[in-house]
Amino acid sequence: MTATNSADPPNTQRSLETQAAPGRFPAHPGDIPASEFRRAMHRAADLMADYLERVQDYPVLPRIAPGDVRRRLPSAPPQEPEPLDQILDDYRQLIEPNTTHWNHPGFMAYFAVTGSGPGIIGEALAGALNVNAMLWRTGPAPTELEEHACDWLRQMLGLPPEFRGHINDTASVSSLVSLAAAREYATDLDIRRRGMAGRPDLPRLTLYCSDQAHSSIEKAAITLGFGLDNLRRIETDQAFRMRIDLLEASLAADKAAGCRPVAVVATVGTTSTTSVDPLREIAAIARRENLWLHVDAAYAGAAGICPEFRPLMDGLAEAHSIVTNPHKWLFVPVDCSLLLVRDPDLLRRAFSIVPDYLTTTESGVTNLMDYGVQLGRRFRALKLWMVLRAFGVRGLQERIRYHCTLAREFAAWVESQPGLERFAPVPFSTVCFRAIPPGTPEQQDRFNERLLAAVNAVGPVLLSHTKLRGRYVLRLTVGNLRTTRAHLEQVQRLIAQAHRQQLEAL
Ligand SMILES: *Cc1c(COP(=O)(O)O)cnc(C)c1O
Repeated sequence: MTATNSADPPNTQRSLETQAAPGRFPAHPGDIPASEFRRAMHRAADLMADYLERVQDYPVLPRIAPGDVRRRLPSAPPQEPEPLDQILDDYRQLIEPNTTHWNHPGFMAYFAVTGSGPGIIGEALAGALNVNAMLWRTGPAPTELEEHACDWLRQMLGLPPEFRGHINDTASVSSLVSLAAAREYATDLDIRRRGMAGRPDLPRLTLYCSDQAHSSIEKAAITLGFGLDNLRRIETDQAFRMRIDLLEASLAADKAAGCRPVAVVATVGTTSTTSVDPLREIAAIARRENLWLHVDAAYAGAAGICPEFRPLMDGLAEAHSIVTNPHKWLFVPVDCSLLLVRDPDLLRRAFSIVPDYLTTTESGVTNLMDYGVQLGRRFRALKLWMVLRAFGVRGLQERIRYHCTLAREFAAWVESQPGLERFAPVPFSTVCFRAIPPGTPEQQDRFNERLLAAVNAVGPVLLSHTKLRGRYVLRLTVGNLRTTRAHLEQVQRLIAQAHRQQLEAL
């Protein structure tokens, strides 16, 4: 397999732009013939299997410049039908090589994810059903499977049965929905009906999270009309966890100033370092102050399926809502975000609006449209269910443990290297580290930027970076099912080599 887009540009160009496609399918109304669909789908299955088998032959990042893909696409849509085989050829030559390969074992940037085989099959089958489970009656099995698979996950996380789950596209939306419910939780405010503008009776409503919380919490504050100025980003301690004394001080100051604290967002596995806020203490404060407690565990929540990680998340069960993304570290293809809510009635109170044309006669059923902003809903539960079954709880646990072991081994290697330092604790499978060459902090930052660029330029691995305490820090995360110890050893060689070269160039 050729690992770059130089595969066959002239041919692609011709097939895309000049070759007038013969009308392969009759122009009569209707989908493509079933026999043709079956044949093309078998070929697509081969394309997918080939890709997964050989994805490591690609560089993780495609070697292309912005605009390279669009330049090779015809500017206007085809007027006449094109044969599926030709479209699949172009997929293979133009699309597949020119994407970033998230399913690559060397993908260790951001949060490494995997669209696993069983999950991919679930995606394809859901496409064939094309069900829109807004109401129970518009998708009985999808609705019930969503409730059931979410409840399996709840059990896997060791959470009590009062938590009820549903699936959103992303953690950003799950947190948005949760904080909308938080507004409803403060029942006397009547915001659903009266809104927030032009109300002298409404105090400033404040939210709390740590300075390591994900930007999606800020977006939720923007979208819901709390406003960024009313989101308090509490400083963190040496291990990047929310400081309880500063949370208390902020709450006290806000109350003294006439603000009305509404919700606190704790993070289990922050995006930069995967630090875990002190949930027990935050939960006690939330209880005392009657605040909604939302826990953002988008990535690290998956580790909670291993009992040995649960002490790190002690207090999780006291949350009003928890988000975790099976599409991050539970091997379900993007997108799939689980929102667990202790009192789903609040979600319905926040969101349920039933227009006349959607009233139904079934009673005692769940209509998933009542639990958030969206009406339509794709059948994400199918891929989740298939992944949970095909790996089993034990299989998932083993894989998460292996990733954490590999990350700890990598952290130990960093510590053993002169000139490198680990920059944050490693509770899960993410390691923050940097080089500490001679020079000013700014020179060290630039050294690390060059080091990262040099490692990533080679091709077989992709790392990312973050800023911690104002410093530029490299970040490696293990989360792909194909990543093995050999890949970590390769990363170590690449880092050591680039480090040596950068030092020599000083
Ligand atoms: C990745 C991440 C998010 C955002 O996830 P999306 O599903 O992409 O919206 C939010 N919070 C944390 C802690 C994350 O790691």
